[in-house]
Amino acid sequence: MAKLFDTHAHYTDESFLGKEELIRDIFAGDVGHIITVAVDAADSEKCVNLASQYENMFASVGIHPSEITEISDIPAEVAKLERHIAHNKCVALGEMGLDYHWAKAYAEEQKKLFERQMELAVETGLPVIIHDREAHGDTFDIIKRYEGKVSGVMHCYSGHAELAREYVKMGWYVSFTGVITYKNAQKNVESAQAVPLDRLLIETDCPYLTPVPMRKKKNHSGFLHYTAEFTAGALGVDYETFVETTTANAKKLFSIK
Ligand SMILES: [Zn+2]
Repeated sequence: MAKLFDTHAHYTDESFLGKEELIRDIFAGDVGHIITVAVDAADSEKCVNLASQYENMFASVGIHPSEITEISDIPAEVAKLERHIAHNKCVALGEMGLDYHWAKAYAEEQKKLFERQMELAVETGLPVIIHDREAHGDTFDIIKRYEGKVSGVMHCYSGHAELAREYVKMGWYVSFTGVITYKNAQKNVESAQAVPLDRLLIETDCPYLTPVPMRKKKNHSGFLHYTAEFTAGALGVDYETFVETTTANAKKLFSIK
């Protein structure tokens, strides 16, 4: 029986401090791999260090667009990532992108921060993890400019099915969280149905976005199977095939054996 791959989690979040036993239980259960994703330069260091404590935990190194309000010198801030990218547990860059929900006033600065990290992806050849909140058009425009040079995943995908097909055409992956299990998530279901199974990934984005029926609890990778079961059902694919394929997809994208 194949195990799940949680492609996007935040285990350096302070709510997971001292939760080594929970993480060990998760790996002993139905989750085979986890990528813990950074939100800024300091967190990138924490992510690679945490990942080195678990055989099948890997790290993504990068700066979240909402952090823009804390940054004065973008090139200097992005340069801080290089040391952590060299770590053997770093398998991706991100999360990076645009967030017009939280920091729309800084849209131009966000674009610079995003582009600088895309340049780093060109240099290193690493895949990227994209955060796009209420910025679908501008995010797509930047990614399109790097077509053929940078590949990656649209994390917690919230766009329309048509846009999802455009990313797939460019060779990208599209990832879904527990949000897809929510009552009002018909748009997410339609997007998942528009993505070929060999380009689909799943994730928790924990400690956020807990899937139904656990919504009152803090999210963790042990709840990923609820999202997997729901999505497999929406696609009309049997669970085993769904898990096998999405895990193989993640291993391919992030070059994990
Ligand atoms: Zn995240």
